[in-house]
Amino acid sequence: MKKPFDIDLALKLISEAVHAFPKAAMFELAEQGFGSPFEQLIACMISIRTYDEVSLPTARKLFARARTPDEVSQMSSTEIDSLISASTFHERKAEQILAIARRIMEEFDGNLPCDSETLLSFSGIGPKCANLVLGIACGQPFISVDIHVHRVTNRWGYVKASTPEKTMVALEGKLPREHWTDINRLLVPFGKHICTGERPRCSACPVLEMCQQVGVSQKR
Ligand code: SF4
Repeated sequence: MKKPFDIDLALKLISEAVHAFPKAAMFELAEQGFGSPFEQLIACMISIRTYDEVSLPTARKLFARARTPDEVSQMSSTEIDSLISASTFHERKAEQILAIARRIMEEFDGNLPCDSETLLSFSGIGPKCANLVLGIACGQPFISVDIHVHRVTNRWGYVKASTPEKTMVALEGKLPREHWTDINRLLVPFGKHICTGERPRCSACPVLEMCQQVGVSQKR
């Protein structure tokens, strides 16, 4: 018999469990000083379909050359592409990064506003990246749902949703607001190292007593 799911307790236990693991990429970059809305937006775009181990040094490589809309807008997409070539879909991302930098210069006087509608209007930016920027760089409560947040919260039985987008909507209706930004920070390392896609490590999991283990057939 499982205990009722206590989200405050679960996130506290998970926070302790992931302490020793590498941080989620965007939070790591913010701690390293790359925490402006523009830097977070560009780093998130670089990270799409790319492992953190690759996207982190790739973002830092670009930022070593240019880290403001003004600096990036003066580059060519070829030069941006050569700096981010380790990232998946780098050619298209280079064009999108240049277009974003130029638009910020033309429309917003070089300052990217902390505004959901504006962020989502950029080609290549979806709710996951927009909400990470708003949460981390802007300090606003937004939930960013990537594949880890989606998988873990559905396995708990905390939400029941078929896609990350639907999980985001379900979490917005249920998750206490104080956890909105943190849930991504905690569940990305938790999903990578404990509640893994294949054969999650349930025997070592701090929330086993309250997790419904929905859809988990093989576990460690
Ligand atoms: S008990 Fe298993 S399925 Fe549930 S959160 Fe922990 S690792 Fe994931």
